[in-house]
Amino acid sequence: MTTPEAQMSGATPTSPPARADLASVASGAGAAASRTLLAALRASVRDVPDFPTPGIVFKDVAPLLADAALFHQATDAMAGPFAGAGITHVVAVEARGFIFGAPVAQRLGAGFIPVRKAGKLPWHTERIEYALEYASGILEIHRDACPPGARVLVVDDVLATGGTAAATGALVERLGAQVAGLTVLIELTFLRGRSALADRRVEALLAY
Ligand code: AMP
Repeated sequence: MTTPEAQMSGATPTSPPARADLASVASGAGAAASRTLLAALRASVRDVPDFPTPGIVFKDVAPLLADAALFHQATDAMAGPFAGAGITHVVAVEARGFIFGAPVAQRLGAGFIPVRKAGKLPWHTERIEYALEYASGILEIHRDACPPGARVLVVDDVLATGGTAAATGALVERLGAQVAGLTVLIELTFLRGRSALADRRVEALLAY
């Protein structure tokens, strides 16, 4: 059974590197502004220790979402690396993935495709079972979600172990679509999620 606890990852790293990955948004004359933005984004993410279980540091993005300018800038910056990449659809997983995925889709002029937990989607679905930290989960997508030739960007708030993103990419490919990459607000680098994503392109605004 999927529990909120089982989906959380991110035990406190012994010495957090606390670096901001500027590569996605900082280049040339815009670098200073981007550094300012990334600092503001970092300051707006609240660490909640021992939530939902002891040892997990939950990255709470609620304060960021409540700030109209920051929310807008964050989704702009998440979409930016994939502008001009021919993205036709954004695919995101409930619940926080939806919050970031929909505006990113609109920035890219792309459609939005929801991936949901088992039993939530009303139409015929393709499903995948995937490993969580302490259990397993099931994700589903509508079988007819991706038209022929779809080129998909996966969006989420946090990349932790990479299990969710890897399962989502696999689902999309089963439907015959191409996965162009993954964009997230936060990457918990100490959990090495990128290694679960093989050679996929991964863009993250903030790294911990
Ligand atoms: P994973 O499959 O391990 O990469 O976990 C990614 C999913 O779990 C994302 O959808 C996140 O919303 C959520 N998640 C995992 N760890 C955390 C964390 N420390 N803080 C907030 N959300 C998390």
